[in-house]
Amino acid sequence: MDDRYIDTTVLVTGAASGIGRAIAFAAAREGARLILGDITVDRLADAAEELRARGAQVVHARCDITSTADLESLVQRGSHELGPVDVAFANAGVLGSPGDVWSYSEDEFTRILDINVTGTWRTVRAVLPAMIERRRGIIVATASAAGLIGPAGLPAYVASKHAVVGLVKSTAMNVAAHGIRVNALCPHMVDTPMLDKVSHEIPGLRESLDQQTPLGRVATSEEVARSALWLGSDESSFVTGHALLVDGGLVAQ
Ligand code: NAD
Repeated sequence: MDDRYIDTTVLVTGAASGIGRAIAFAAAREGARLILGDITVDRLADAAEELRARGAQVVHARCDITSTADLESLVQRGSHELGPVDVAFANAGVLGSPGDVWSYSEDEFTRILDINVTGTWRTVRAVLPAMIERRRGIIVATASAAGLIGPAGLPAYVASKHAVVGLVKSTAMNVAAHGIRVNALCPHMVDTPMLDKVSHEIPGLRESLDQQTPLGRVATSEEVARSALWLGSDESSFVTGHALLVDGGLVAQ
């Protein structure tokens, strides 16, 4: 077992499922204390219970990233019980409905941006003051390959993930002098409940994604978590303002 996260307090949003859950379990294996938030409380409680059974110290609570109060309360409680946040994985996000740009629902567009962009900013804002005070901290925001390329059919999602990459770069420049690093994780397609949901809506999607990817398959959430943990560790000590593709070579084609 690596021990890069011993004596480290880690925040994960969207920790009940998929990539966030995999990050929480991988960080726990490396010794992290965990502050976990999600809106899906039953699955979050299950994950927290399993992590505690494996010996991890965990604080978990319902935390909707569209709510500043939820985020502040989770960070405050978690920091009080486990110590200030050393590494924050601002991971929660939603795909939203597919659609064309010209007929997309304004309510849906606004909803996706509020969760994916403003929610990521709210998460960053909730952890930065203490990080700045301690001159220590690492933030990893889950963007997407869709933050760097613009496939048709998911206009709000693509716009939101480009905005997350922009937010990461701007924040990284803002806090570099305070000793804090900020990076974006950019997976393409990952085998999570999010992908299961779209695969049901679009027959044949899963197979075509496997074929389009040079490595011949979509990613597992565990391998995406390993890249996230690298960004969140001192092994990436000279990397900041970066958008790390974890895409099996898709964007390089
Ligand atoms: P997922 O649906 O399995 O998990 C997302 C989690 O976020 C869920 O537990 C959900 O309850 C939670 N969540 C949703 N809205 C929330 C909110 N307002 N506040 C707090 N929690 C909320 O999805 P995933 O695939 O693990 O996605 C995690 C991140 O990875 C997202 O930001 C997503 O955009 C990004 N991503 C996913 C893929 C993929 O193919 N799965 C690819 C690239 C990027």
